[in-house]
Amino acid sequence: MSIAPPLYARPVREAASAAALTDDERSRILAKSAQFAPPSAVLPDGRRDLVGLSRAELTEILTEIGEKPFRTKQLWHWIYHQGATDFSRMSSIARPLQEKLAERFVVGRPQAATVQTSRDETRKFLFRFRDGQEAETVYIPDRREDRGAVCISSQVGCTLSCTFCHTGTQGLVRNLGAAEIVGQFMAARDSYGEWPSPKGETPRLLSTIVLMGMGEPLYNYENIAKAMKIIMDGEGIGLSRRRITLSTSGVIPMMDQCGEELGINLAISLHAVRDDLRDELVPLNRKYPIAELIAACRRYPAASNARRITFEYIMLRGVNDSEADARELVRLISGIPAKVNLIPFNPWPGSRFQPSTREQLDRFAAIVMDAGFASPIRMPRGRDILAACGQLRTESQRARRSSGAPDVQKT
Ligand code: SAH
Ligand code: SF4
Repeated sequence: MSIAPPLYARPVREAASAAALTDDERSRILAKSAQFAPPSAVLPDGRRDLVGLSRAELTEILTEIGEKPFRTKQLWHWIYHQGATDFSRMSSIARPLQEKLAERFVVGRPQAATVQTSRDETRKFLFRFRDGQEAETVYIPDRREDRGAVCISSQVGCTLSCTFCHTGTQGLVRNLGAAEIVGQFMAARDSYGEWPSPKGETPRLLSTIVLMGMGEPLYNYENIAKAMKIIMDGEGIGLSRRRITLSTSGVIPMMDQCGEELGINLAISLHAVRDDLRDELVPLNRKYPIAELIAACRRYPAASNARRITFEYIMLRGVNDSEADARELVRLISGIPAKVNLIPFNPWPGSRFQPSTREQLDRFAAIVMDAGFASPIRMPRGRDILAACGQLRTESQRARRSSGAPDVQKT
């Protein structure tokens, strides 16, 4: 593929007015997303999974079996604060009710099909869900302190096909449900034994969540929102919205809603500062071009100097890593409370790009830094187990294909 810089002077198409991104468009996105809904939360034996239900839904289900609303709080505490998966462990609930609950419900977890720990302690989980579909979750411990980030997947595969991303080669199989999204975090906590949920400022090993795994979270907004509300609930997992970052390739109509409803941090996968190049690298740019994306960042409600928007910029050798690109980047984001995360390209089998050289990375970072933006270079973690950014991909879709079509495989 040839990606040469263009010679014309206007690199970014004019922005349409924000009003053009109407509620209709949001409804269209939500309706499309519903077509890829996860399977029902009811097991073949008729029992229902309680994980992933909102408090209101849990109350409704308990009322249906003749239980009082205060039971919601009790169960919520056992499920999300204590991490209990077995009703017989719920000691504040009398034995007959424990049995009644166990007959009708389960507290589920995704099954860890494989768990790999990298030389650098990064741990990758391949989770298998009830219908056999799979997604990956990665825990990235901080090297210096006892804390770390859990990188969570939002979809099995992805509809978008960013040319540098392994997940993008998979296509979209389906959305993950709220239970599967919360379940990834809870199962990762099981693996480190971090229960009960630490309260307040008590240090946590699994201290932040980044929605940067497989899939585009804003194309699965309703399940993501439901899951994040459960995770942020102070009587359960109790993780602050300041410790959650959602990464998007730029689904603008849903960015507005995410900021208003969830108030979590935002990361934008920018990767290019000219529309012609971004159209190639992040094809969604043809629909939501750079100027509109930047305008949406400027109005993102949860951004402030204390809570900056992260612009992610994957450094591709000779493609988007020139000093002119760095200067244009600085111009584009000027005035936004922002930091720039420079991501060295992580190769995967069959990928067609090369990572930028260290010298070019440093030159680029220096220009961004001189303009007053923090510009950390994200050191790849877990590359040896293909757990680094953009390397995640599952085999799920392969099983659905009838022919033995050539495919890129996870090693
Ligand atoms: N779909 C969302 C979130 C998942 S991708 C998004 O695109 O933002 C998470 C991050 O990994 C994005 O910034 C993405 O651009 C980056 N990424 C994808 N492929 C990569 C690769 N091969 N090397 C390094 N980073 C990559
Ligand atoms: Fe999807 Fe993000 Fe990968 Fe693009 S970078 S294909 S949006 S997961």
